[in-house]
Amino acid sequence: MFPLNNPFLQRSKFVLVVVASVVMVVGLVGIALLGLRLENRSLGTLLFAVSALLIVLTILINHLMFSQLFKPIQVLIRETEETLKGMRKGGISLVRDDEIGRLANNFNQIVLDAQMKRIELETSNRELASHAEIIEKTYRELDKKVYDLFTLFNIGKELNSTLSVDSIMKISCFTFMGQLGITTMTICFLEGADNEQHMKAVYLKGLRKDPQRPPTVNTSETFLNYLRQKEQAVVVAELEGKAEFKNELDFFVAYKADLIVPLMAKDQIIGVMLMGKKLSGDKFMQGEKDFVNTLASLSALALRNARHYEQAITDAMTKLFLKRYFQIRLDDEIKRADRYHNRVTLLMSDIDHFKNVNDTYGHTKGDEVLIAVANAIKENFRDVDVSARYGGEEFSVIMPEVTKEDAMIPAERLRKAVESIPFVLNGEKVKVTLSIGLAEYDTDAKTSLQLVEAADAALYRSKENGRNQTSLA
Ligand code: GH3
Ligand code: MG
Ligand code: MG
Repeated sequence: MFPLNNPFLQRSKFVLVVVASVVMVVGLVGIALLGLRLENRSLGTLLFAVSALLIVLTILINHLMFSQLFKPIQVLIRETEETLKGMRKGGISLVRDDEIGRLANNFNQIVLDAQMKRIELETSNRELASHAEIIEKTYRELDKKVYDLFTLFNIGKELNSTLSVDSIMKISCFTFMGQLGITTMTICFLEGADNEQHMKAVYLKGLRKDPQRPPTVNTSETFLNYLRQKEQAVVVAELEGKAEFKNELDFFVAYKADLIVPLMAKDQIIGVMLMGKKLSGDKFMQGEKDFVNTLASLSALALRNARHYEQAITDAMTKLFLKRYFQIRLDDEIKRADRYHNRVTLLMSDIDHFKNVNDTYGHTKGDEVLIAVANAIKENFRDVDVSARYGGEEFSVIMPEVTKEDAMIPAERLRKAVESIPFVLNGEKVKVTLSIGLAEYDTDAKTSLQLVEAADAALYRSKENGRNQTSLA
């Protein structure tokens, strides 16, 4: 139908009602005027009266529609639009019992529900965000733990790859200092019998040599028990004010320690590691202390095993290797020489007329001479050379990758060094000399046994030719 398709009417049906009412009023006014002109007065009057009544009714209905329907609908439209745009809080202001009032109430209810849902959604979002944060934190912690375990595994492997106490201390310091971000570190071993124990600083990293610094400190059982009870790294500051640990505290402070990490091999304290301050100036975190404890227990076990091994292969008096170890190393060096076509030179030496020293000055003085000669050997050969106490007062040195002619230089250096040691035994100045023999693999011998025999034969010649000299095989 045409009028209803009109876009204007499509927007507002009320206009349609008003237009229809106006048309009706105009029609009724026409009918009323017609009634006034009718010949039949009584019919005319009736027509006029009915028309007038209908006009009044129409106007009244229009007024009612405007005030009771159109105006509230306008308010409803405006306020719902404002609410949707977020410009209005508190819902629609209409309070009525009719259809429009119920519509407004329903709308308010929907808005309220939506708001509740939004609050619930925001709460779950916040919970979700905090869960995501926890997951992220746990992930980071797990990542760190995997990294720590991986590091521990690698360090454990490295620590177990060697039986050298020195190498283990070096690996430990390198790892600890890197992991903690520190520049100084000291490793101390616990030495001495029960009740007379002391800590001895055996390995220093990042600390200058300082004669003022005590090399050892008497360590009370109370302090060791304190470390055992703590079962973890102890911050040096914790010892401050504890009178019973004053000795230990002074020692740790002298070594610029900030953290004391016990070296626990199983349930036995074999020493401590003293960690310097962190470069960043920060305190040690609990996680770092835990990591350091685990790492320290790996180091402690490796150190204990290596020390046992070193004790087993070392002569207690001269601190040189024993004959058994010397023989294993000689076989190894000969195998290596075969593989890489290298040279190996063997030095055998024997103190001249040593019986006289013992007989004249006593066994104890003889021991002093042995120790001094052993020290001279340590000072005059390279780290790669293997020095051993072959027998009573016989010493041997394996020199890998050296010809016997080149070996003459350190051999003669040693002979002269021993000759010039100013021994004073029982108040008498005594000169001790050494006879030396050198033999080379594989020109002088084809087996390790033959090499020992060849070097021994050269040594025998030195003896025969007047002692205090070096002979080549
Ligand atoms: P030569 O010049 O021919 O070698 O004469 P020598 O007197 O040194 O003779 P020899 O090498 O046979 O002497 C070995 C002596 O070394 C005998 C033994 O009393 C002494 N000796 C061996 N081991 C020790 C030790 O551990 N301590 C001490 N004090 N003496 C030892
Ligand atoms: Mg001898
Ligand atoms: Mg001798």
